[in-house]
Amino acid sequence: MLRWLGVAGWEIRAGKTVILVDPFLSRKTESRDREWKTDEAAVLEHVNAANYIFAGHSHADHIGDIPFIAKRFGSKVIGSRTTTNIVLAAGVDKERLTTIAGGEKLDFSDFSVEVVESRHGASERKGRTGMEAAREISAPLAAPILGRHFVDGGCYLYYFHFGNRRVLHQSTANFIEEKVAGLRPDVALLASGHEGYDLKSVLRAMKPKVVLIHHYDEWRVPFSQGRPRSNVTRAQRFQRSIQAIDGGIKVIVPDFFMTYTLE
Ligand SMILES: [Zn+2]
Repeated sequence: MLRWLGVAGWEIRAGKTVILVDPFLSRKTESRDREWKTDEAAVLEHVNAANYIFAGHSHADHIGDIPFIAKRFGSKVIGSRTTTNIVLAAGVDKERLTTIAGGEKLDFSDFSVEVVESRHGASERKGRTGMEAAREISAPLAAPILGRHFVDGGCYLYYFHFGNRRVLHQSTANFIEEKVAGLRPDVALLASGHEGYDLKSVLRAMKPKVVLIHHYDEWRVPFSQGRPRSNVTRAQRFQRSIQAIDGGIKVIVPDFFMTYTLE
């Protein structure tokens, strides 16, 4: 079962295993030179377990809450070198970290994951001028974690296999088109928008049965303020673009915490 946590965050429950991808419940912006602090109450209102946490890229709205969640629930964390350096500096045990760089096939007890190299979406990056100067945290950091440490760090898709069911998670709205050939997700969790890639060729290459659109909400405001109408309209425009290319794809714009059960 999949549950949307806002932004690009998902909880996936497979049997007794709880997997989080890009969980970000703090819903506030970081500031460059200040220590980053998770809104722990906001996280605990919605997250009560995590065996594994996957990070698609290392901006604060994707990994800001991972150190707190990993320490609280003893989770294993999988992400780029930037992500694991940040999480390590925040005090998560090294043995629980797996650094990926694209192309890995990781086997866990009741699921497996392929890591697929990707790239950052064009529109989200615009608002982050100045943070891209250092795109990677390539060496261990000293605490505290500051806002400016949350650099891109490389972007990855996670292609999960649960038995014969396949779920693709996209962290930010872009693809390296030649890397998606042969993926056949039952469910694709896609970030809203497609300014950086050709939507038609990506959909034809991977033929998802269902698309759930995420990262269209306003991540800087709490859940209680809902989803701005203009954001929902933007997601619906993306939904129509997908359906215009292939009317056979079921496309859903979820509300916060909507669940979707894999058939
Ligand atoms: Zn980002």
